[in-house]
Amino acid sequence: MTAGPPIDDIHFDDAPNVDSVPGPNTRALLEKQEDIDSSAVAYPNDIPIAFEEGKGATVRDADGNTYIDMFAGIGVLNVGHSNPYVLEAVHEQADKFVHTVDFPTEARLELIEKLDEIAPAGMQGNNRVVFGGPTGSDAVEASIKLAKYNTGGDGLIAFRGAYHGATTGAMSVTGNKKFKGHYTPLLSDVVHAPYPYPFRQDKSPQEAVDHALEEVQAIVEDPYGGLANPAGIIVEPIQGEGGIVTPPKGFLQGLRDIADENDIVLIFDEIQSGLGRSGEWWASDWEGVTPDVMTSAKALGGVGFPLSATMYKEELDTWGSGDHAGTYRGHVVGMRAGTRAIEYIQEHDLLAHARDLGEYIQGRLQEAATQTDRLGQIRGKGLFIGAEFVDSDGKPDGDLVDDIQQYCFEHGVLVWTAGRHGNILRFLPPLVLTHDLAEAALDIVVDGIEHAVDDA
Ligand code: PMP
Repeated sequence: MTAGPPIDDIHFDDAPNVDSVPGPNTRALLEKQEDIDSSAVAYPNDIPIAFEEGKGATVRDADGNTYIDMFAGIGVLNVGHSNPYVLEAVHEQADKFVHTVDFPTEARLELIEKLDEIAPAGMQGNNRVVFGGPTGSDAVEASIKLAKYNTGGDGLIAFRGAYHGATTGAMSVTGNKKFKGHYTPLLSDVVHAPYPYPFRQDKSPQEAVDHALEEVQAIVEDPYGGLANPAGIIVEPIQGEGGIVTPPKGFLQGLRDIADENDIVLIFDEIQSGLGRSGEWWASDWEGVTPDVMTSAKALGGVGFPLSATMYKEELDTWGSGDHAGTYRGHVVGMRAGTRAIEYIQEHDLLAHARDLGEYIQGRLQEAATQTDRLGQIRGKGLFIGAEFVDSDGKPDGDLVDDIQQYCFEHGVLVWTAGRHGNILRFLPPLVLTHDLAEAALDIVVDGIEHAVDDA
């Protein structure tokens, strides 16, 4: 059986089609939200939109405006909103059984087997998967626990620019000081090493890799390196929130070598970069490096069901029954959805599609960069792309990116930002985005860049 309709058939036909936004229904919902919802609400502060319906790589707001979605709920909707092949299984499963804690179900075992099929090479047939809670942060907590439990250590090496989540352990390894500043002390014994970021560090790719690896090595091996009992290294193979910072080749392998030489656990956080986002199943596949532990969430729930998982090498499966617990340790509807989403990616060859379309999008941005000195760098892999903007002195320019984002919104394209200074325009569209939709979106993005640069 072919897995559902082709990608050409699963979007609203009229996107983009936008009147003046936000329209009256949207405004009413935003106002009501402000009255009754938490002050912690964040996303509508950037784009004042209220969603009504989504299809594929397109969404409608509460006033019937249709947009091309280039952020996919921050990398969640890899097979698109309401993917019909996924929804078919969701409806079937929801009618039968929704919550089963961690009792065996076909849905659960099928997903574990599917994840094994697409696991990084060195983990295939040699892994276990733990489902604890539904969020990525929970998967990160599980990975930290595994590293500590298996090594007896407690120190962690993380990276500047990293984002790993909102729970205490995950915040500890996150780089963003503003995000965690009010909640210290967090986990002690966490050290943040530089992540290779040649553009910002003013280094060649090789120098940036060497510098980062020397620092990590010193933290672990120098007798005066400071961190007494390291348990593991946690790293995003491509930093997402940090600005689609894409490390040059050699970095992940270097970390692998340091972890091996020192018997510590190497954790790859693939929550944003994984499940096809980068044009490979896992961003680390680009370098062919296998971690000891790998976190996954976001796109794992198929069409947005909250589901996370931590995959680890079988030899680390030393902990006992209930050692990573949670009421929602595997939402069976989400599990069905996850398996179906992986099948949809496989059957429609969406990894190759993501690579091709990613090249097209980067090409369009490169073309735009020839017209202005404000577009400092375009980077990323597959459909995980960042465009870094600078001011006339080469300093990060977040205001310019806000203006571009606003222009895109008003013209029917939803695109997000990232980076320490909010100066990276972040593209992470559903992998089902068609070439036509990408072209329409990029026409608007490029106009937005010209417009914002002219106004600056
Ligand atoms: N790790 C990475 C790399 C992420 O991008 C995120 C979410 N943006 C998380 C962890 C945390 O996931 P969640 O928000 O589901 O807890």
